[in-house]
Amino acid sequence: MRAVHIHITGLVQGVGFRPFVYRLAQNYQIRGWVSNDNEGLSIHAEGNTDSIDYFLADIERFAPDAAHIQQVTINETDIFGYDSMTILQSANLSNAITEVSPDIAVCNDCLTDMRLQHRRLAYPFTNCTNCGPRFTIIRALPYDRHMTTMDVFEMCHYCQTEYHQPTDRRFHAQPIACNHCGPVYTMADHHGNFKPLSDPAAAIANWIDQGEIVALKAMGGYHLICDATNEKTVHKLRERKNKEAKPMAVMTTAERLKERFNVSEEVFNLLNSWKRPIGILPHKYPYSPSVSNGLNTTGIVLPYMPLHHQLFDFMQAEAIVLTSGNLSDEPITITDADAYQNLGKLTDKIVGYNREIHNRVDDSVFMVCNEQPVMIRRSRGFAPAPVSLHIETEGILAMGAEMACTFAIGKGRQALLSQHIGDLKNAATLAFYEEALERLSRLFRFEPIWIACDTHPDYLSSQIARKYGIEVIEVQHHHAHIAAVMAEHFIDEPVIGIAFDGTGAGDDGTIWGGEFLICELSQYQRIIYFDPIPLPGGDKVVSEPWRTTVSYLYKYFGAEIVKTATNFLPSPTKDKIPLMLQAINLNLNCPASSGAGRLFDAVSALLNICTHSKYHAEAPMRLEAAIDHGCAESYQADFIEDRIEFKTVFQSILDDLKKQTSTGIIAAKFHNTMLNLIKETAVRIREKHQLNKVVLSGGSFQNRYLLEHSIRLLKQCGFEVFFPQQIPPNDGGIALGQIAVAAKLIQKRKSS
Ligand code: ZN
Ligand code: ZN
Ligand code: FE
Repeated sequence: MRAVHIHITGLVQGVGFRPFVYRLAQNYQIRGWVSNDNEGLSIHAEGNTDSIDYFLADIERFAPDAAHIQQVTINETDIFGYDSMTILQSANLSNAITEVSPDIAVCNDCLTDMRLQHRRLAYPFTNCTNCGPRFTIIRALPYDRHMTTMDVFEMCHYCQTEYHQPTDRRFHAQPIACNHCGPVYTMADHHGNFKPLSDPAAAIANWIDQGEIVALKAMGGYHLICDATNEKTVHKLRERKNKEAKPMAVMTTAERLKERFNVSEEVFNLLNSWKRPIGILPHKYPYSPSVSNGLNTTGIVLPYMPLHHQLFDFMQAEAIVLTSGNLSDEPITITDADAYQNLGKLTDKIVGYNREIHNRVDDSVFMVCNEQPVMIRRSRGFAPAPVSLHIETEGILAMGAEMACTFAIGKGRQALLSQHIGDLKNAATLAFYEEALERLSRLFRFEPIWIACDTHPDYLSSQIARKYGIEVIEVQHHHAHIAAVMAEHFIDEPVIGIAFDGTGAGDDGTIWGGEFLICELSQYQRIIYFDPIPLPGGDKVVSEPWRTTVSYLYKYFGAEIVKTATNFLPSPTKDKIPLMLQAINLNLNCPASSGAGRLFDAVSALLNICTHSKYHAEAPMRLEAAIDHGCAESYQADFIEDRIEFKTVFQSILDDLKKQTSTGIIAAKFHNTMLNLIKETAVRIREKHQLNKVVLSGGSFQNRYLLEHSIRLLKQCGFEVFFPQQIPPNDGGIALGQIAVAAKLIQKRKSS
């Protein structure tokens, strides 16, 4: 006989861990107790020596899918002679870290119950301790039913029994529900009153097959759905949604996925995991022209709510478009009233359900780099799970940037990254940011001592930072991009940081974004950078990439070339050129920028691929999609001391255009130029500064061609290469970088 005390930290609460331990203990005749505590989970286990060893091994091997074990501490202890295994009630929680589980896709056992278990036949809110809503319904800790939006549903007698039965899969499943007592789907009538909808899956499937557009409430907000293979309907959806051109995600089944996509095992496993993110994958052929809208990739997600699965049982359609139910830059709709108000005009039917979404959460999105996932938007299934760091962050709040904004809360050696919020310049999104900030701080009992924010004085996140009235630590935008990746990979030494980005405030009053830095967590140095060019019209260049083209051509070749080289522009646009050139000469609203994103914009517009951009980063995305993958040639960039000029590049592109070289070849040569540039610059910096670790980050690295081939080339040159994986390369990762930089500065201050 032997007794041990086991302590487990990580994501072990709200994921069915205690019943799992209980069942395991039964298998090995182990007695004692299991309990949630402030920092995780404690077990007192008594049994024979071998059984204890098997028990310990099985805990790590067979832990519930959604659990994430960070650390297991085992201590021998006294034998008390317990005669059974008991699950103790949760102790009230202090301010110590307690992880809140992200939402979990419906599990296979529950899908089976929906076919076999009388009370749950076709019941679309079936869940258990291994699956179901979590973060979206939680109001406060500890995670108990009355602290969630399930509090208005009174458990029926049967559910009560399951809830209290330790051997049941629904033991302490807070959102437990069945046909007798749980939430139901509802549908809006013409006056916006939501009435129960019977057989929702059959009804919706029928509407989809008829070519209708449906607003459907999912886990973290409303989606707009329709048949992805019905070109007419998808086109109608884009027209109704303000001619929206953004890529739209598609939901299909695991079996059908393989007809249109080649996926590696690793990528499939993530798509099929309990997190169920959207994966951006190259398709063999598009679902319909309006879904892919000119790109050669599609965002794919597998069913994650019970109703999603049911739809595919009834539908003829092989796949449905699944796009956020919102108006342009506004946050995703979560209430029935807003759905009726905002989505009514876009859809034929509005289907909700009568359980409230407390925390709004968008679908997560990842891309694939060398068969490995890279997060692009970290939200449902991930938030608010922390990112583990190697540095103490307690008391630091990081505000993020402005586009694709997220914030981060420092707890111990972890950063709790908020769900994706969006573009703060939109008033409704800003309100969501402030609400989420308040809710997450309360949920995790967090009071900031220090605040980290971007150096950009106009960012709304920086302005909110100052309202707290505590010390504000400003972090340069690209330093934060690189630091985020350093933090993710536990790097705390100088690295070569390559930040390619659209926009970020530089330290010299110009806009940066094509930066080769030497970074430590606490400081950085700008070593080499892209030639700054004036952006005529300031922010206007983001939606009108042709302006940047004009600026490059004017700078390198003068007014004459601008006239002949912009033949592709329509007259009304072209007519603006003389005034623009004047504005550049007089430096009127023409901020200087070294942004890599702008260079990609300029080339995309020059090739007439995208002169006017309808959504963020459309021009570089289309330029990437145009690449002729058979072409290995490149152009020559010019190194002028610590500046990289593109005069020769533009000259060569103009020559190629004259020779009527295909845009696919030019796009490939341009991308290859960027790759050589990254390699050459990294080698130069290594020779001078003896650094061998390279970190790649910034929004431009969402370009798969650029990211994959940079990594390959740099590795060939013997570099150790790091890139964002758990956190996005775009500004969604900035908050993590800010928190890491602030943490290091505070640590240094304390030790000096
Ligand atoms: Zn389940
Ligand atoms: Zn019930
Ligand atoms: Fe950025």
